[in-house]
Amino acid sequence: MPANAIPDTSAKERCPDTLLRLLVMVAICSIVIVISLTSYGIFRVYAKDILTHAEEDAVKIANVMVIQEKSTLFGQGIAYPDGIAILDEAAPGFDKRMRVFLSPFDIVKIKVFDRTGKIIYSTDPSIVGVIDDANPYFLATLEGVVGSKQVTKESLRDLTEEERLDVDVVETYVPIRNARNEIAGSMELYIDVTQYRDEIIRGVGTSVGILTLILLAVFGFSFCIVKSGTKQLIDYQERLKDLATKDPLTGAYNRRAALNRALEEMSRMNRAMSAPPYKSLSLIMLDIDHFKKVNDTHGHQVGDDVLREMVQRIENALRKHDFFGRYGGEEFIAILPHTPLEGCRILAERLRLDVCEKPFVVGDLELNISASFGLACATDTATSFEELLKLADDGLYKAKAEGRNRVCCLMQERPETGHPGEVMAS
Ligand code: GH3
Ligand code: MG
Ligand code: MG
Repeated sequence: MPANAIPDTSAKERCPDTLLRLLVMVAICSIVIVISLTSYGIFRVYAKDILTHAEEDAVKIANVMVIQEKSTLFGQGIAYPDGIAILDEAAPGFDKRMRVFLSPFDIVKIKVFDRTGKIIYSTDPSIVGVIDDANPYFLATLEGVVGSKQVTKESLRDLTEEERLDVDVVETYVPIRNARNEIAGSMELYIDVTQYRDEIIRGVGTSVGILTLILLAVFGFSFCIVKSGTKQLIDYQERLKDLATKDPLTGAYNRRAALNRALEEMSRMNRAMSAPPYKSLSLIMLDIDHFKKVNDTHGHQVGDDVLREMVQRIENALRKHDFFGRYGGEEFIAILPHTPLEGCRILAERLRLDVCEKPFVVGDLELNISASFGLACATDTATSFEELLKLADDGLYKAKAEGRNRVCCLMQERPETGHPGEVMAS
């Protein structure tokens, strides 16, 4: 980049709009993460709450049941070696009383273990006699610890032998203590908590909905503030860019910006020249004739208006991809990409006539203005931009020397061959 190059403030990575888009993406990701974590957290709190309540209920039910059935479980006068037992003759009555006792609750199954881990009673008769002494929850009850877990079962038979499908069950293990407060066995109670599932979904949904609304409101408000800030920033950037690149009097590119664009165009052309079809780039340097006289005769203000009108006429004469700038005082340069010398000459001649054939109207004044033109064209990569400028300047000097209001070129015109030609000074 040349020393006087203008920094490209439109660089995408630094553009406020790009930063705003990045901010929006980060905010959306953050909102999604916050909402996901929060909903998981709320779900856990609800689930824990349900587990705790089910466990408390199970402990109360188990304790009442043990008190009511102490004579069956602990025997009368004799101590059972495995802590508790249900004698065969007592079993049918016990089972009957159990089903009546448990019926008002959401209990779907119970198991009673003796100290060895053998199931001595269950509302599911098929598992009576099974030994489950490796079950960690059972082992914990022998230490006096109440434990519970929630599981989802595809299907389950309740106390009335009715099949329930897709049920959430809290399984609670409660120690059974004898009159001497020794642990004599344990009991496992299955409480159906499926009814709370909808409550959890509603609770999580409501909390997440409220949180989402709050986050969106906060984010939307912040976005509006940042958006108006970035808009201001973009406006300032545009104004700064204009100040750095535009001539304040005429609005045309200033010298520095015009030279920078010309250099860019030149290197683009050089790249294109490495392969056919070969391109060329032309330069016009023009200077208003006897402009000092305009100032001296009509005043500086009128001179300024003439300069502005001149810029309009140059702009109208050039094509879409050409560009020009104020090179200094009343001197301008125009760059014509992909234009051979012949095309450049035609365009310069047309502009010369545009200037001199129609008077410049400033207030009540009608001024006859003319300009002189120097041309140059690069058709190979060997021509440097400095050389091109020098050739155009020499052409302009020659035009002035030969009487002004004319187009001059010190280069030899060559027929278009489609191949790079040499720059020939004459
Ligand atoms: P030549 O045909 O040889 O170019 O003669 P000239 O009078 O145009 O050239 P000269 O270099 O003698 O004078 C240029 C004048 O342009 C002098 C200067 O005051 C005037 N000028 C430069 N910039 C501005 C400007 O921004 N506004 C006005 N009004 N005049 C300007
Ligand atoms: Mg002049
Ligand atoms: Mg001049």
